[in-house]
Amino acid sequence: MKVHFLGTAAAEGIPSLFCRCETCRQAMQKGGKNIRTRTSVMIDDVLKLDFPPDTYFHMIRDGLDLETVQDLIITHSHSDHLLPEDLYMRLPGFAQSENRPIHVYGHDRPIGKCIDVVGTAQQKFAFHIVQPFVPVRTQTAVLVPLLADHDKTETCLLYYIEKDGKTMLYGHDSGWFPEATLDWLKDKKLDLAILECTTGRIPYRHNHMDIDCTLETKEWLAGNGVLKPDAQVAVTHFSHNAHMLHEDFVAAFEPHGITVAYDGMVLHI
Ligand SMILES: [Zn+2]
Ligand SMILES: [Zn+2]
Ligand SMILES: [Zn+2]
Repeated sequence: MKVHFLGTAAAEGIPSLFCRCETCRQAMQKGGKNIRTRTSVMIDDVLKLDFPPDTYFHMIRDGLDLETVQDLIITHSHSDHLLPEDLYMRLPGFAQSENRPIHVYGHDRPIGKCIDVVGTAQQKFAFHIVQPFVPVRTQTAVLVPLLADHDKTETCLLYYIEKDGKTMLYGHDSGWFPEATLDWLKDKKLDLAILECTTGRIPYRHNHMDIDCTLETKEWLAGNGVLKPDAQVAVTHFSHNAHMLHEDFVAAFEPHGITVAYDGMVLHI
């Protein structure tokens, strides 16, 4: 399984829109892995997680053919994870796209936002509302939506994904995982866990994770036998408000066996 990190920033990106903080200034100056766009991951070029405002840029930067996408999975409706207006660009009159739907999965709020834009009287997208802990077989994988500790005004989801005999946890945006999610994970075996660390050293255990909470989550997964012996753990979704450059995140996480994701990074599991 090829796991391609397209974007690794929280809502504002790094450097951030309108920001003059020292971190954004340094990120702009140093470039490379310090430049982070809004979070998304592509699996085997066929399954895409989230549809952020930087999708157009991801396509150009990494030479993606977005027509290879069969399933699009949405975690929640926040603007850094879903720009439904860009789905419109696949409709007739805009793109010369294939005559088949991309299947889009998410809870009611993000799917409702997509339908508000493209409607259901078109052939290019098929929408599916998923429920926490109810498995769904998509064209490319088996998904199990899990509950996140995030925006309390909507049902925000993490995903367990099983594809071609490999298993992964897609674990942002969330604070310390809700009890029901931990219970569900207990007897699973993961090849890859993708966790978040939005706030760096700023204490945070709800809505998002700080470094300690991310490390504790990894320890919980390892301690409960959820990580296979050769499992990989990666961390993503970083905010400039953490005031940490890529090298600072590497220093915090690599000693604990956690890979710090950067834009364009590819993992094979
Ligand atoms: Zn986010
Ligand atoms: Zn900034
Ligand atoms: Zn969010």
